[in-house]
Amino acid sequence: MTTRRNFIRLSAFSAALLSVSKSFGKRNYEPGNAAAPIILSTWKWGLEANEEAWKIISRGGRALDAVEAGVRLTEGDLGNVSVGLGGNPDRDGHVTLDACIMDEKGNCGSVCFVEGIRYPTSLARAVMEKTPHIILVGEGAVQFAKENGFTQENNGLTPRANTAWKKWLKKSKYKPEVNPDSHDTIGMIAIDASGNLSGACTTSGLPFKMHGRVGDSPIIGAGLFVDNEVGAATATGNGEEVIRTCGSHTIVEMMRQGHSPEEACRIAIERISKSPKDIRQLQVGYLAVNKHGEFGAYSLQKGFNYAMNDDKGNRLLDSDFMFK
Ligand code: ASP
Repeated sequence: MTTRRNFIRLSAFSAALLSVSKSFGKRNYEPGNAAAPIILSTWKWGLEANEEAWKIISRGGRALDAVEAGVRLTEGDLGNVSVGLGGNPDRDGHVTLDACIMDEKGNCGSVCFVEGIRYPTSLARAVMEKTPHIILVGEGAVQFAKENGFTQENNGLTPRANTAWKKWLKKSKYKPEVNPDSHDTIGMIAIDASGNLSGACTTSGLPFKMHGRVGDSPIIGAGLFVDNEVGAATATGNGEEVIRTCGSHTIVEMMRQGHSPEEACRIAIERISKSPKDIRQLQVGYLAVNKHGEFGAYSLQKGFNYAMNDDKGNRLLDSDFMFK
């Protein structure tokens, strides 16, 4: 059994290995001490979201508040093709949103298959804070939203999403067309100045999915997992493969066993490679941070990048990947 002392020792050992092998993903820390604030989020849109989150975390705010504020920026951007109300619709022309949030105490909340709610992560937080439950879906989630001061918007598809849907309808291929460039779910994980971790993950899901389909992003343990003693992980890409392998939870457990964040992400990607499905055309990207502020990423395909913000600034980094 891995004790906390073992975890710390193994983490220190992997940090030492990292420092001789490569500096990527390595930050200075005193073993046993929590890291200085850091925010990580998926894809290049994460840069702007990180800046929003950094405003909170750099002033001593809570990681939970920072990740909520950060991803709200992406949710509110109607130009984003797979987050928020501007995202691509399902096959029937509905934009259905999934989101979740998790804090340092293991509190978590999630909403799935919600329509017309601009900030689903804030709704997920309300589920976490105001109900005895973790997940609310569809009409029930919208009813709860209205009862708690959220407005349901019925503005239809944005012109861009409408054009994309009409184009898709011409062929109406049943199988979702997935390629590494079509994902931009935002998953954000952060450590605040008190050393506490939180995360959020939000998406409109795979473009032209079946009506009613829910992906990994709102599933605690798949699209997001936070354990304040160990670290946090989040996912983007083909959600079915992430759910099948409990991706983010697997990564946190690998970090608990002493693997670096990047190694943990690679191990989770390797599990996907055993999928019964043909994964050669699919993309999955994982992003993780441990309690000490070491971070890393790994994806199936080339092209996954992520934004990292710490006291030295905000930058975009490329993930290593499996299919070389
Ligand atoms: N993970 C999301 C889903 O499967 C999609 C994405 O990241 O693009 O719904």
